[in-house]
Amino acid sequence: MFGASEEEGPDMPANKKLLVLAGDGIGPEVVGQVRRVVDWMDRRRHVSFDIAEGLVGGAAIDAHGLPLTDETLADAVASDAVLFGSVGGPKWETLPFDVQPERGLLRLRKEMDLFANLRPAIVFDALADASSLKRELVSGLDIMILRELTGGIYFGEPRGIEDLGNGVRRGINTQVYTTPEVERVARVGFELARKRSNRVMSVEKANVMESGVMWREDVQRIHDEEFPDVELAHMYADNCAMQLVRNPKQFDVIVTDNLFGDLLSDCAAMLTGSLGMLPSASLGAEDPTTGRRLSLYEPVHGSAPDIAGEDRANPLAELLSFSMMLRYSFDMGEDADLVDGAVENVLASGVRTADIAEPGRQPVSCSAMGDAVLAELDRLAA
Ligand code: NAD
Repeated sequence: MFGASEEEGPDMPANKKLLVLAGDGIGPEVVGQVRRVVDWMDRRRHVSFDIAEGLVGGAAIDAHGLPLTDETLADAVASDAVLFGSVGGPKWETLPFDVQPERGLLRLRKEMDLFANLRPAIVFDALADASSLKRELVSGLDIMILRELTGGIYFGEPRGIEDLGNGVRRGINTQVYTTPEVERVARVGFELARKRSNRVMSVEKANVMESGVMWREDVQRIHDEEFPDVELAHMYADNCAMQLVRNPKQFDVIVTDNLFGDLLSDCAAMLTGSLGMLPSASLGAEDPTTGRRLSLYEPVHGSAPDIAGEDRANPLAELLSFSMMLRYSFDMGEDADLVDGAVENVLASGVRTADIAEPGRQPVSCSAMGDAVLAELDRLAA
């Protein structure tokens, strides 16, 4: 199960330990708008967050000479969830590879063993025309791509480039998965499906890869033994790419490996139209005694140096990442629905930042978008 199981009400405020790592560029701007919603939750929904802040990326390099200190990593591991902004920017681009801002995020993912990467592709009705597909194909789309994030061909050994002499080289990467790696991501997929439309599509290339045959068999076994109530089907990755642009609404949860997930989640992201609207979550293993999972929530976009400091960024991807946190780390589905509903209504009312603005309509600033979401939350909760 995801999230806390205890019942909470106005009389029993629970302190949830949240580490905020805003990072660089537009990170602090979009996180700033989410902090306003967190304060609203505290006031209006009696949900208390115990918030700590830390430095990551370029901000941490400037302060400590490293993109992530051991202390910040320890804080992340000790927190119930991490809310991450974005890292990077021209100021740090010339640094050696192993101390660049992005290494801070990669280290967090690795040390927290965040193996399950959740990338929802949701099309808000008001933005359906921004999709690269026809409105009728994407309107109402709500699918979840679950990508295995810590195994597979990006990490497998042997790897490298060999010199075979006579100007011939050989480039090698190896696709490797073990049964426990497949089982744990499959379980996350089935648990997610139970909270959604109860359908999982497992995706590999069992027709040409032994690791795909094993993936398919292991997912099927976990299904039969532990999740027989969930509808499971299997699909080859190339067909899945085609189906995603032919008829994306046929899917609910897609569970797949690191490489195919990388490609398919980007493909699905484009169905929704804008980088400023895409949230994500990365989850670690469940502690068998406490049921707690390490987790990190972040928008898909980067630090957007071209608009940083101008109060122009779209804060909704960060806000939707926070809503995923409420749903998956804290089991607060009702509050997550409230945030999602406020976002949907604000978009429907025509309030848009520049990246999603309709032609001929004046875009609003990042903070004005925050104002609009708060006003809508007030209205919905009245
Ligand atoms: P980017 O996502 O930062 O920006 C791409 C384009 O989308 C830019 O034109 C930007 O203005 C726009 N954009 C992005 N987010 C937006 C938002 N919320 N609202 C409005 N417009 C938005 O990608 P990039 O330009 O390739 O990278 C910039 C920096 O970010 C680089 O240093 C890169 O390494 C870093 N980066 C970090 C992460 C991360 O922190 N997870 C992810 C990707 C890139």
